[in-house]
Amino acid sequence: MIHLTYKDIALISQKRPNQHVAPFPRPHLEAFESPLRTQMVMQHLNRIGLLGELTRVDAPKAKREDILLAHSPYLLDTVELYGDLGSGHLGESAFASAEVYRAGLYAVGGALRASKMVMEETSSHAYSLLRPPGHHASTSNPTGLCFFNNIAIAVKSAIEAGAERVSIIDFDDHFGNGTAEIFYSNPRVQYISIHEYDFENYGTGHYSEIGYGEGIGTNINIPLLDMSPDISYEAAFDRVVVPAIENFRPDVIAVSAGYDSHWADPVGNMDIDSRTFWKIGRTVRDLVDLVSARGSFWVLEGGYNPLGLGFCVEASIRGLAGDACPPLPDQLDRIVHEMLVTQNINILNRVYEMISPHWQ
Ligand SMILES: [Zn+2]
Repeated sequence: MIHLTYKDIALISQKRPNQHVAPFPRPHLEAFESPLRTQMVMQHLNRIGLLGELTRVDAPKAKREDILLAHSPYLLDTVELYGDLGSGHLGESAFASAEVYRAGLYAVGGALRASKMVMEETSSHAYSLLRPPGHHASTSNPTGLCFFNNIAIAVKSAIEAGAERVSIIDFDDHFGNGTAEIFYSNPRVQYISIHEYDFENYGTGHYSEIGYGEGIGTNINIPLLDMSPDISYEAAFDRVVVPAIENFRPDVIAVSAGYDSHWADPVGNMDIDSRTFWKIGRTVRDLVDLVSARGSFWVLEGGYNPLGLGFCVEASIRGLAGDACPPLPDQLDRIVHEMLVTQNINILNRVYEMISPHWQ
């Protein structure tokens, strides 16, 4: 195993953070995707001294042609036009603000820089900490707080830069319907989503959706029950995510890092804490070694409790660096319901039965 220092991990952020926020008071979903999210993470990383240890990079602004890697000109133009207007309803839970277009271009620019740094091997791992998130945005539809699909654009650029195969791990509370749609028939991109299976998934996210045509077997949905505990996420990685990536042998691993599955999140309904986010970081690091990938690039998705988001991101980065799990204030004991654990194992067995016949 290669020894990593924190300098081998790049943290990409926005030099002048954007103020994009939909014009609603809480508890509207739209208002939770606020500038406080990334501000509080940066403050936390600074307070614990981690910010100074990482390689810091300012996100560049993406170009119009970058957006077109994954989106239609229609989507690009409507986000720009509604941004100029300063308001407007672009899709379900996707409201424009005067900053939406600029914010979107920087979030894409950060994801692209993360992908580029790993593809060029200037960093082993790179983490783009920008907003708005992107995994719900499909080719032509902004939705679910997402306008441009940051991770999909970054994955497309990794392929343009020479990656034969890319695996995406999406551990956001919600199903990344936009990312799944963009790569559904693409045999070079493996999309693996662990999510809460409910009505918020736009009616999709079931394990029977496994890809189409040449891409059959490359879309892996792991729909867990509401209030799933840490142990179910661990089982999902052990039984499905790790063997799937071992089989696919990607050149690079992309991560849609959403923290709204945290137990204290006001939007998601899962029951996990920062120990699971540490374990995911550690597992991605081990997978990169196992399949001899160039590295991993991470893109922030959800996570709407500004007080807890810093712990989650810190835990992921410490896992990725190979450090021990830090003891953090959110790691409180909670009752684990055995019924949920058992039912989730049944679901994981169904996922495995759907997917494994397509493995080499
Ligand atoms: Zn989410």
